[in-house]
Amino acid sequence: MSSTEGGGVPFHSGYVAIIGLPNVGKSTLLNRLTGTHLAAVAPRPQTTRHRILGILNGPGFQAVFLDTPGLLDPKYALQQQMKREIDLALKDADLVMLVLDATRPGEETDSMVRRLAGRKLLAVLNKVDLVRDKKELLPAVDRLVKAGFPDVFMVSALKGGGADDLKTAIAARLPEGQPFYPPDAVADRPEEFFAAEFVREAVFNLYGEEIPYSTAVVVEEFKERPDRKDYILATIFVERESQKAIMIGSGGKALKRVGSQARQEIEAFTGRPVFLELRVKVAVAWRKNERFIRDNIYGRDWAD
Ligand code: GDP
Ligand code: MG
Repeated sequence: MSSTEGGGVPFHSGYVAIIGLPNVGKSTLLNRLTGTHLAAVAPRPQTTRHRILGILNGPGFQAVFLDTPGLLDPKYALQQQMKREIDLALKDADLVMLVLDATRPGEETDSMVRRLAGRKLLAVLNKVDLVRDKKELLPAVDRLVKAGFPDVFMVSALKGGGADDLKTAIAARLPEGQPFYPPDAVADRPEEFFAAEFVREAVFNLYGEEIPYSTAVVVEEFKERPDRKDYILATIFVERESQKAIMIGSGGKALKRVGSQARQEIEAFTGRPVFLELRVKVAVAWRKNERFIRDNIYGRDWAD
């Protein structure tokens, strides 16, 4: 497949892993870059415990961000889990963006850099709005360049300063390729889109090899209800009856686990309580059916 559109200018797309210590402003930066509120922004460290996608669509490019829970040493079980997620995010990444707090940029960069050897790198000194004299940052910039970061950007994720330059730099570093996600779906319906992604992620977490790759998720209803939980109805499509039985599990137990895990993710994402209803349907060989994919996976109206 060609990644060239219209006038022969190639499209660029790629995964960008955001890494850095807790509280340096990774989630705030992600929200600033994508213009959506995807990652939980919290004043406490370690609130982001899962990979969360954010997507930046720009002219001729799409950057898919993998938010990570902070680069820690695995002292505790939770941190072990977090380290695994970081490694997963790094494995998928075309570009690794290290975020540092400009008010204390010296912390623990060396151990990070060792883990990142051989990757395409970019460093961000965030919270520059808190630094009176930018000259104070020169030693930190110097050290990062020596450590292997060819480019260091000064940004205020909170106020927005430097964000446009950073977007341009990210776009310039993405490999050629088709967009991973339909730009319209993300822009039009971010919450439905990400609710579907969280259900899909739960399926990936809870089933063996075959099932996840045969799965498509369509959010058919997403109702915000004042004074009540949001109502979400999602259909999980599989390709065969046998997969449907596995997906549901005996007594519906397996599907319940999917629902419970996805619901928690969606609630963390929207910040509101959610009632999530899941259905499983067979769409024979849907992966080979372009029309099914266009109408159901990327489209918005799905009729029974
Ligand atoms: P994360 O743990 O790296 O994801 O950090 P968060 O995005 O949750 O931010 C941690 C804290 O730093 C929050 O209170 C943010 O409001 C604050 N913060 C993030 N970016 C900036 C910035 O550019 N300037 C200032 N002054 N504060 C920021
Ligand atoms: Mg965070």
